[in-house]
Amino acid sequence: MGKNLTSRTEDYSKWYNELVVKADLAENSGVRGCMVIKPYGFAIWEKMQAGLDKMFKDTGHQNAYFPLFIPKSYLSKEASHVEGFAKECAVVTHYRLKNAEDGSGIVVDEDAKLEEELIVRPTSETIIWDTYRKWIQSYRDLPLLLNQWANVVRWEMRTRLFLRTAEFLWQEGHTAHATREEAVKEAELILDVYATFAEQHMAVPVVRGLKTESERFAGAEETYCIEALMQDGKALQAGTSHFLGQNFAKAFDVKFATKEGKQEHVWATSWGVSTRLMGALIMTHSDDNGLVLPPKLAPIQVVIVPIYKGMEQLAAIAEKVNPLVKQLQLKGISVKFDDRDTHKPGFKFNEYELKGVPIRLAIGQRDLENGTVEVARRDTLEKESVSFDAVIEKIETLLVAIQDNIFNKAQTYRDANITNVDSYEEFKKVLNEMGGFIAAHWDGTAATEDKIKEETKATIRCIPLNVEKEEGKCMVTGASSPYRVLFAKAY
Ligand code: AMP
Repeated sequence: MGKNLTSRTEDYSKWYNELVVKADLAENSGVRGCMVIKPYGFAIWEKMQAGLDKMFKDTGHQNAYFPLFIPKSYLSKEASHVEGFAKECAVVTHYRLKNAEDGSGIVVDEDAKLEEELIVRPTSETIIWDTYRKWIQSYRDLPLLLNQWANVVRWEMRTRLFLRTAEFLWQEGHTAHATREEAVKEAELILDVYATFAEQHMAVPVVRGLKTESERFAGAEETYCIEALMQDGKALQAGTSHFLGQNFAKAFDVKFATKEGKQEHVWATSWGVSTRLMGALIMTHSDDNGLVLPPKLAPIQVVIVPIYKGMEQLAAIAEKVNPLVKQLQLKGISVKFDDRDTHKPGFKFNEYELKGVPIRLAIGQRDLENGTVEVARRDTLEKESVSFDAVIEKIETLLVAIQDNIFNKAQTYRDANITNVDSYEEFKKVLNEMGGFIAAHWDGTAATEDKIKEETKATIRCIPLNVEKEEGKCMVTGASSPYRVLFAKAY
């Protein structure tokens, strides 16, 4: 089955699309840009949600839920916010359909026009800050640390499963603070949560950085981001955390009484990661045989495939395997014993390889006689025969080893694909020949950034947070520059 997949070198984009569909993760729907997430894909997303949700709660956040629809007038209250989102908003204008008079079908009932049109939320700052005005009066009401798990709609023109869809699932945190310092600290804390999640759960190494003004979230004073590098040398923005200053508090008139009794505007942050993380996960680790999943996010961590002739042999294997399944489950390891008699072992091997199950056990008649089991790992495709009595210990070590190995592999690749360049010529050459992140000097102006984007399609992914000071000259204009920024072509 693996052979049915287009290879990455042949056509990376085709490989990705085929993989998403063949591994049963998601598929396109009848609505342009909107996807159906299938059970196996959703199980991975649920694991991501669970991991992130715990991290949010451990850092003092609570979940809440705000409406899907936002009155149009709310959106226009923060000028740069509406400017940024207006071009991709879905708008609800009517609330009823009726039968067409000429019998041609169902039409919009023009008598059922909404007094105020509603926007399907592209993000929820406006409706949330309209609510916060009612909730925040005094410094005692702060900080307010909320998150919601929701779907949002951005009318994207060029879509791709998981990476960029018109409707996507995400979490959006919205916090309110008494001081600038506290809000900035919150935005940085969440960036750290995102980076930790990406690296330790997803095994995806990320660069933590700041966006330039032109790449900033509409309405933010500062956008922090994590950027990952995919196997085709293109970057992917994997998460963003925004310091919003007092912009939304001013737009929605949210003030609080300080300890000293003064009235001040509230400081804000917002932050989000989406189902795009699924795309990052798939593109970072998978190979020409299919998905490679980090054990921490794999819906099935261990699959056991019996190799048998006749029901008697299967029963003998099941007798040996069932207690093992129980013991693994007690240890919190998710395991599946695939005793379907409708499929051959070879078919099952291919299927679990395609689906990225980290560890596969195979057990046959000879293993029963020898007290052994064959253990195969998905990341390296290595197989070995292990004594049945030692298999649990083997699995526990392997799950850790696989998680580490795929992270290290991705990090080695990422690090090998960050190139320092000092001239625009070299920049274009590296961009076209190898891609990856390019660290170069830039004069700090939007004009130069635009010119580079127009001429090469590369954008400034971020100014890394740990950037080293290094006096240099902008590769395009020659103006002085205090450090290198990271460019890349991005998804
Ligand atoms: P933003 O609100 O624009 O900062 O985006 C928040 C998060 O959603 C970021 O992690 C983005 O990478 C992700 N995101 C933005 N647009 C899309 C989209 N069309 N499909 C999937 N994820 C998206």
